Amino acid sequence: MSNTRMIELIGVQKSFGTLQVLKDISLTVDKGAVVALIGPSGSGKSTLLRSINLLTVPNSGYIRVGDHAMDFSSTQTLPRDRDLAAFRARTGMVFQGFNLFPHMTVEQNVMEGPVTVLGTPKAEARELALALLAKVGLADKAGMRPDSLSGGQKQRVAIARALAMKPDVMLFDEATSALDPELVGEVLAVIRSLAAEGMTMLLVTHEMAFARDVADRVVFMRDGCVVEEGDARQVIEQPSHPATQAFLSHFH
Ligand code: ADP
Ligand code: MG
Repeated sequence: MSNTRMIELIGVQKSFGTLQVLKDISLTVDKGAVVALIGPSGSGKSTLLRSINLLTVPNSGYIRVGDHAMDFSSTQTLPRDRDLAAFRARTGMVFQGFNLFPHMTVEQNVMEGPVTVLGTPKAEARELALALLAKVGLADKAGMRPDSLSGGQKQRVAIARALAMKPDVMLFDEATSALDPELVGEVLAVIRSLAAEGMTMLLVTHEMAFARDVADRVVFMRDGCVVEEGDARQVIEQPSHPATQAFLSHFH
């Protein structure tokens, strides 16, 4: 096990009833690397991301994020809630929908995790929230309610909120898919700045130019399997597997 690997999955399988959604997935993400996960709808990308922070519990396999590892092969017993919570706190997840608390201000949304989960004193959590809001370009929105923000601004708040937990890795599941086209760029710019700072990230995206330019590696999934993976530019511009070629041909 290498310390340079921040995320490690070995033989991860997940079924819903008789539907096998993840078939023996093995995957690593190096510390500080950005990996783009691409593939057709229904191929298992969200399930894979959800498995990495254990929102979905795999049927078998091994998952490690930083220092936290779980082995689902050896035992049929489910992990304890405490262990799940500790594991989950290491990953920040950003979804397509923003999932902000509507009754709280932007600042309170960002403070909530540190205060309630980590026990951070309020003054300290507020200072951190303001710093993170400044980082995503929303320092002036701290006192607003989420419903007064644009979709792009909401998504940047969601990113700040995930960062407030000081995660080891950030997982993005189609973070820009629900946005109006003119708002996509501001969210991608924040993700790009996180990449430049060395944040380890795994992102499901349909933005192929972004994947090519920002990701180090691209993983192509189909039918619950990793079909092809490699250098981002190589996979996007010169995919070697016919399934990857067919998928990417839809984006021109
Ligand atoms: P993607 O994100 O690549 O579109 P998903 O991981 O969302 O794919 O879904 C993969 C397959 O798993 C789909 O067939 C989907 O219907 C199924 N699926 C996902 N979540 C569940 C669930 N909670 N229960 C049953 N089937 C599910
Ligand atoms: Mg999905």
